[in-house]
Parts: sequence; structure tokens; C-alpha cells
Amino acid sequence: MRIVNAIAAPSATEPLVRTTVERRNLGPRDVLIEISYAGICHSDIHTVRGEWGSVPYPLTVGHEIVGHVTEVGAEAGKHKVGDRVGVGCMVNSCRDCDNCQAGYEQYCLDGNTGTYASVDRDGTVTQGGYSTHVVVDEDFVLRVPTSIPQEAAAPLLCAGITTYSPLSHWNAGPGKRVAVVGMGGLGHMAVKIAAAMGAEVTVLSQTLSKKADGERFGAAHYYATSDLTTFEALKNSFDLIINTVSAPIDMRSYLGLLRLDGTLVSVGAPPEPLTVPVFALFGNRRSFAGSSIGGIAETQEMLDFCAERGIAPEVEVIDADAVNDAYERVLTSDVRYRFVIDIASLR
Ligand code: NAP
Ligand code: ZN
Ligand code: ZN
Repeated sequence: MRIVNAIAAPSATEPLVRTTVERRNLGPRDVLIEISYAGICHSDIHTVRGEWGSVPYPLTVGHEIVGHVTEVGAEAGKHKVGDRVGVGCMVNSCRDCDNCQAGYEQYCLDGNTGTYASVDRDGTVTQGGYSTHVVVDEDFVLRVPTSIPQEAAAPLLCAGITTYSPLSHWNAGPGKRVAVVGMGGLGHMAVKIAAAMGAEVTVLSQTLSKKADGERFGAAHYYATSDLTTFEALKNSFDLIINTVSAPIDMRSYLGLLRLDGTLVSVGAPPEPLTVPVFALFGNRRSFAGSSIGGIAETQEMLDFCAERGIAPEVEVIDADAVNDAYERVLTSDVRYRFVIDIASLR
């Protein structure tokens, strides 16, 4: 067992503090990763504050992990010492169920093992990436292309795959009109990826304050949702809406923006339920769906796609001691567009 430096939440209401976490001894198929950068996802905040239900404390979160391999288990052959690698939101799954067999480990019927706050195979609670090292089964470790700067690559492991997966599944591409609701960590990646896939992208943000950025990321149109004429102007417009908002939205207004056979996919995960007025689905034969991260093969596909297209998240690199302030800024939508912790500040 290794004891490594980390930052953890002592409870749902206290700030994160410096501490240590235990990492298991390397199993035959494990790799030891020295972490360079860890992104801050809004899910980290929902989780540590107990908004999604009770979690074990102290808890180290972080599931946008980039680093390099420093040791490999005796039977591990997928990654070698020195490789640049990443870890996203899950570190294991049953591997046997229909969904795992189909490459959808995120939808493992037995429940995937989350990178943090999950019970691991050895019965311990998993601890996330706001930490100097992590030990992960090689099958859940991704190759991170070296053409993407390390700090910018980190948010691809959650924000990147969580938006790539539904955009790919619902065929965002040439001739498709895609709207992205909320331009934070996930939202700005949805804009970049949908534009790279060839779709005509519209951003629906609370205000127009980030319009120039949205256009730079590839959006053709940008509207403020605080302006109620937006919902009238864009009625029956979109094939696909990706909702990334961390709070409930008025479903009737947003569903009304879908054209025939359009789908609104929620990746945003507010603790409160979204209320769907069924009559808003009848018009235009609309669908409402959800989507959770992505499988391991698809995550690798996304990393390679971003490297080929020269797409990377916009990041603000911070030291470990700035995490609590960063959380407050995420909560007020004052993020441009992902905070990433420089793990060197934890060594
Ligand atoms: P984020 O950086 O905070 O972005 C959320 C954006 O939503 C904000 O930047 C803001 O955009 C908008 N927003 C926030 N509060 C709002 C409100 N009250 N009303 C309207 N718009 C609001 O968060 P994130 O890291 O991208 O995560 C977004 C959500 O996705 C979270 O709930 C997170 O837990 C969830 N998530 C889900 C998955 C999955 O697998 N499904 C994976 C990762 C994260 P504007 O300023 O542009 O309005
Ligand atoms: Zn996340
Ligand atoms: Zn499974």
C-alpha cells in the first residue's frame, strides 16, 4: 500500500483540505500513474456536497486525470512506463454483462466502479484524481495523444467524452442543427466537438457575455436564454439539443425548440428532477433522453478525434490551494472554461 498526497472533502459542508489517501499495491494488471493534472468537473462539486446522495468522507474527488505511467503490473501489457495516459469517470466494471460486452462499460448492469466514492473490488472506497498518484486496472487507462498539452487533455476524460458520446450517437454532422445549452466545462466542449463533426451549432447561454468565445469555438449562432424572445425565435429549429446545465431547466420551453423527430439529451445532472410536460413531446414527435459519459473504446476514439482535429478544452490552471475558490467560481458560472489542478502543487 502507498500513502500519497491528496486534497479531500472532510464533509459535505467543509472546504477541501490537504491530506493523504491510500493506493493499493499494484495488482498484476494494474498500472501506477503519476498524475500531472486533474480537471474540476461540476460532478465533483455535486458529489462532495452530498447533492446526489450520501457519500463516504473524507472523499477525494477528480475524474479528469492525466499523467504518466511509472510502474506496471507483471501481466499488464497495454501501457508501458513513461506513457502519457488518462483516467476518466470509471475504473472498472463487471466486463461480462451485455452492456460491458457491447463496449458500454459506463452502463454496466452491475454498476461501473466510479473513479471516486465507489466500492472497489477489494472492498475499499475509490478515491479520485486530486492526488499525486493513482493505481488503475490497465483496461480502464486511456492513451492520451502527446499533441494535446497535458493540462488541456485532462478535461477530455469527462467533459470531452460526455459530450462526444451523445453527439456521435445522435449523429451530429453536416446538415444537422445542434443546440448546446449552458457553455461551461461540458458545454464549451460540446460546441467544439459538434462544430468539428460538421453540425450547425447554436449556443443557448444565460447571457450573451461569452458570445465571442462561443463563435471562436465554432458556434454559428448564440442566444441568451434570459431573453424570452429567444424561445419564440428558435421554435421548431433543432435536430439535437445537448443540455449541460447543472440546475433544472424549463423543459417545455426547450422541447419546443426541437424540429420533427428532434431529441433533447440531458447530460446535465441537477439533483432535482426535470419536469417533462408530455404534450411538449407530442408535437414534432420529440424525444427526451439522457446520456452518461462514454465507454472505454469510445473515450479512446474521442481522444484520437480531438488530437486529429486539433480540438482541446480551454483551461485555467490552478494550484491545489485554490480549489475551494475555484468551486465557488464554477457555481456562479464564472469558469473559462475548465479549472485544472496542477498536481505539482501537491507534491
Ligand atoms: P459547469 O462548468 O458549471 O457548466 C454548467 C453551465 O450551465 C454553466 O456554465 C452555465 O452556462 C449553465 N448554468 C449553470 N447554472 C444555471 C442555471 N441555474 N440556469 C441556467 N443555466 C445554468 O458544469 P459542467 O462541469 O459542465 O457540468 C454540467 C453538468 O453536467 C453538471 O450537472 C454535471 O454534474 C453534469 N455531468 C454529467 C455527466 C454525465 O455523464 N451525464 C458527466 C459530467 C458532468 P452559461 O453561463 O453559458 O449559461
Ligand atoms: Zn465529470
Ligand atoms: Zn457489466
